[in-house]
Amino acid sequence: MMNKWIDISWPITPEMTTYKNKHDVQFEYTKTFEKDHVRESRIIMGSHTGTHIDAPSHFLQKGETIDQLALDLVIGTARVLDCMQFAVITKAVLTQWQFNEHEIILFKTTNSLKKATDPFDSQFVSVAADAAHYLAEKRVKAVGIDYLGIERNQPDHDTHTILMQHGIAIIEGLRLAAVEPGIYFFLCVPLAVQGLEAAPARALLAEQGID
Ligand SMILES: [Zn+2]
Repeated sequence: MMNKWIDISWPITPEMTTYKNKHDVQFEYTKTFEKDHVRESRIIMGSHTGTHIDAPSHFLQKGETIDQLALDLVIGTARVLDCMQFAVITKAVLTQWQFNEHEIILFKTTNSLKKATDPFDSQFVSVAADAAHYLAEKRVKAVGIDYLGIERNQPDHDTHTILMQHGIAIIEGLRLAAVEPGIYFFLCVPLAVQGLEAAPARALLAEQGID
């Protein structure tokens, strides 16, 4: 079957937007064609750079690390929700949709209108704690947001911890400007780094199911 893949990953560059403007992405050219007749490089970046998956150990003391994440959680049917008119995604926002058990829910917000290299915007559209409880109640398997964080101004990181305690995967740093709301096949697999609390990932949507 022909599938049209849509890349919804954040382009990784030294100029890219970084969480709270840390600017911790560097490309180091260890061999150049001019000098060495071959190209090699090193990438220096945080584990929460661009499109990435947060593992439960990011906020839970005994939480699983990213290598322990069940990949089933981040592969499957996804619903892209049109949240362009909301400043915060609350339970009240979510009750307008029906959710199926084990769906992956992706929020398309005005965050997606920012350029991939814009300065970090601390006023980004985020997901409220009551929405996290609601998503847990609906038994979705993963939640994705189109910015480098899913919550803000939460001293106890409630949105993260509620989702993590319910075994719901958290994907941050998606780019959804070019994506129409609707149902897709979704794939987002973290790098196989061992023992860390997060890892960068490539995220793709397909317009037709391939399961
Ligand atoms: Zn993160």
